[in-house]
Amino acid sequence: MKCPKCSTTVLTENINIQADIAKCTHCGEVFKVSENLTDDTYKAFDINTPPSGVSFKRDVDTTVISATTRSALAFFLVPFMLVWSGGSLGGIYGSQILQGEFNIFMSLFGIPFIAGSVLFWSIALMAIFGKVVLTIDRQGGKIFTGIGKIGITQHFMWSEVSSISEQANYSRSSRNSSSVIAIEGKKRITFGSGLSDDRRYYVLHALKKIYGQVKR
Ligand SMILES: [Zn+2]
Repeated sequence: MKCPKCSTTVLTENINIQADIAKCTHCGEVFKVSENLTDDTYKAFDINTPPSGVSFKRDVDTTVISATTRSALAFFLVPFMLVWSGGSLGGIYGSQILQGEFNIFMSLFGIPFIAGSVLFWSIALMAIFGKVVLTIDRQGGKIFTGIGKIGITQHFMWSEVSSISEQANYSRSSRNSSSVIAIEGKKRITFGSGLSDDRRYYVLHALKKIYGQVKR
């Protein structure tokens, strides 16, 4: 940390985080620690009051943060998917089944609609039932993203982590971007794109806070 007046690096023994005060021995300036930190890890953030849809449980050595990806998007996606999926797949394959005739061209034509249905239904189901669960201990943690027991689990080790931040996630297919939480270091893990802004904010800062505690 640097002195806000003379920019001399302030020694650790002259900084009191608990009292939020530090003293520069070079010029005698006394200043608030919180107002001079660019790293927001130590800024006021209450890990014990998560927003709605997020739970925080701390055991002896394990912390579990569970955040739902429940979203109002479901109200739009589900009816849309019923019409789109039902219409396209019903039209392409349903008609073949009803007529009892297999049509290779129609069947091949339908493959992108099957792929699209799988992708959008998984987004729609995540918007209803999905969750992101972080299970963290002193060695590292795992991040589960999915529905029930079905989903993706990513692992990380604290010793291999060098930064945790929020980053824009540009998807190939769409113009709009969403944010993700990125854990970087030896490898890069991103997650949390389905979380609402306030839930993602909480998870990001909770993770940073725990990281700060583990590092010391
Ligand atoms: Zn100074």
